[in-house]
Amino acid sequence: IYILGIESSCDDTGASVLCNGKVLSNCIAGQAIHEAYGGVVPELASRAHQQNIVPVVQQALEKAQITKEQLSAIAFTQGPGLMGSLLVGTSFAKSLAFGLQIPLISVNHMQAHILAHFIDEESQSKPKFPFLALTISGGHTQIVRVDNYFDMTVIGETIDDAVGEAFDKSGKILGLGYPAGPEIDRRAKLGNPKAFQFTKPKVEGLNFSFSGLKTGILYFVQKEIKKNPEFINENLNDICASIQYTIIGILIDKLKKASKETDIKHIAIGGGVSANSGIREALKLGEQKFGWTTYVPKFEFTTDNAAMIAIVGYLKYLKEDFTFQNVMASSRLKL
Ligand code: ATP
Ligand code: FE
Repeated sequence: IYILGIESSCDDTGASVLCNGKVLSNCIAGQAIHEAYGGVVPELASRAHQQNIVPVVQQALEKAQITKEQLSAIAFTQGPGLMGSLLVGTSFAKSLAFGLQIPLISVNHMQAHILAHFIDEESQSKPKFPFLALTISGGHTQIVRVDNYFDMTVIGETIDDAVGEAFDKSGKILGLGYPAGPEIDRRAKLGNPKAFQFTKPKVEGLNFSFSGLKTGILYFVQKEIKKNPEFINENLNDICASIQYTIIGILIDKLKKASKETDIKHIAIGGGVSANSGIREALKLGEQKFGWTTYVPKFEFTTDNAAMIAIVGYLKYLKEDFTFQNVMASSRLKL
């Protein structure tokens, strides 16, 4: 069974072909244009998707060494994401499925970040049900209880900023480029995580809050700059390490709580921030300290990619869960 997956929820245009859950190709076209603006500009993103989508799909088919006539179905990201971006992928997928007269499968982007763990890869072990999924990305921060592929319950989520935003906005305060997450990660390895203390938010239950942290960092930096204008330059690695340490502390505290409350010790992470080396180390430590079994997807399946869309497509294909030509993109699609 050959599934073509198409991803266009934000600023990356992705296309991937899977054969029975195994990746034959996973192509992506990024959009460097947003760097100059320090964030994704929706209108520019949808235009770039329009330019990229045909070549990226062609590339994915070529790399997989199949023709479009061999495809069994087409899976696409229905939401959540930027409306203009989603519309490009959705319209393209609908037209192609209609032209080829094959089934069309709509995919929830956040579900795909979780089910990316089930892509058939030797280097990936698949989580056992039930497990907890921590999805940490540029737009989301959720703890999801996963009882089966399509039986998922959000048990905690952010009430304001996502964790990726916490990284990116903190980076902006420090004058780092966008997205700042990877650079904070790189610098954190060279700095002292306990050099500076930032207050952790107090949020009830399993929910998160990250907007206060960003403000705390802003006030702290402004105060220090008054005393020493070179404060950021002289302490950048230590500041980055301290920010990352605080953010990871917040995530691990809630995971501990969720694991205790649900009595589930299998924990899988997904979303772009799971590329972070600090969170990966903290999870490994959790295996020793709390008896967790943790699952971290291969790097190319953590940030936005089309292989994760195609694997959900494959799982839905097996149960003949298809959608029709009247399907619409949905920017706020819920899990
Ligand atoms: P969503 O999936 O919620 O729609 P998105 O698609 O924008 O959001 P992803 O591509 O999954 O998000 O992740 C992008 C985010 O991951 C950015 O905020 C980026 O800074 C962050 N990120 C990437 N690598 C790292 C890293 N090594 N450390 C910390 N953050 C990182
Ligand atoms: Fe994403």
